[in-house]
Amino acid sequence: MEYAIALGSNLGDSRSILESALSSLETVVARSSWYETKAVTLPNSPPQPNYLNGCAILETELEPLELLAQLQQIETELGRVRYQKWDARTLDLDILLLDDVIFQTKTLFIPHPRMSDRAFVLVPLAEIAPDWKHPVLDCSIRELVQSVDASDVRKL
Ligand code: ATP
Ligand code: CA
Ligand code: CA
Repeated sequence: MEYAIALGSNLGDSRSILESALSSLETVVARSSWYETKAVTLPNSPPQPNYLNGCAILETELEPLELLAQLQQIETELGRVRYQKWDARTLDLDILLLDDVIFQTKTLFIPHPRMSDRAFVLVPLAEIAPDWKHPVLDCSIRELVQSVDASDVRKL
């Protein structure tokens, strides 16, 4: 099975945290460049440091919930402390896509429900998987990336 995942960090030594996260995953078959992106914050919340974001493709036989557990374990090992949703964090690992599968449980939604309006996800993903078809929206990542404003996403 092929999964696309998103990686992000805006606290600590983000580049080495993201590199360590990638090397903890044995099954990476492709990885994007790293991108510096402006943090998206909730209205009235204080500004946050810029993020470092990227995407990777994994080939693994892990089931979705098993992969989520593995990603959460890596987040914990690399020092993520969970305060509030959308707070600054040392590491965030999200599952974006699994083949052409739609998977929904209480704790896991695939495709990731907010990926299609996030330039910081679509720009790196388009670098490594432009032809992957979003199974709900029925269009390619190449098409999706053209529909977002990517002016706050800078390739390093
Ligand atoms: P967002 O989901 O908007 O990117 P976030 O990454 O900050 O926000 P978290 O606090 O990291 O949110 O995760 C909250 C919960 O989201 C997780 O505990 C997990 O159960 C759930 N979740 C649902 N779908 C996914 C997915 N596709 N990938 C990762 N986590 C998911
Ligand atoms: Ca996230
Ligand atoms: Ca997350």
